[in-house]
Amino acid sequence: MKKCFFFDRDGIVNESPGPEKYVERWEDFHLMPGFVKVLRRVTALGYASVVVTNQRCVALGRLTPGDLERMHDQLRALLRDRHGLALTDILYCPHDRGVCDCRKPKPGLLLEAARRHAFDLPASWMVGDSATDVEAGQAAGCRTIWVGEKRLAGSATVSVDSLEALDSLIAAGRGVV
Ligand SMILES: [Mg+2]
Repeated sequence: MKKCFFFDRDGIVNESPGPEKYVERWEDFHLMPGFVKVLRRVTALGYASVVVTNQRCVALGRLTPGDLERMHDQLRALLRDRHGLALTDILYCPHDRGVCDCRKPKPGLLLEAARRHAFDLPASWMVGDSATDVEAGQAAGCRTIWVGEKRLAGSATVSVDSLEALDSLIAAGRGVV
């Protein structure tokens, strides 16, 4: 079975639009250089890579599923054409709060990805910048990486203050992968 790195999207893959805000246009989607580094490194180590993202903006009518999927196609094209990298999958929750089993902190997106691709969840990692990412990763049985202020890391397996620091940690083989 394959191991996976799950990545939250806003604040990890791309710059966060801010709390309760959404990236509604590709022009506002700004790829994080640190994410590209980490994706390159975990790909080289043989991990699959899956983005799991809550996009309540769909439930709110700000974006259609088609708009969101086009944006994700553009993300894949950018990673492929500019960086020579590929994501294994991108799964999103389009629902409002409290009506589904896929909106993080629930583990539904990770479990669905594991079903699709036969991932070994205990050997996989969830990377995020919200407590709900850590909770979703733990609920799916993964190890977890918190990216942000250390004092807010909670019970994450590993905490780092930036994606660049995560890249260095993986490169050094200190407690990650
Ligand atoms: Mg986030």
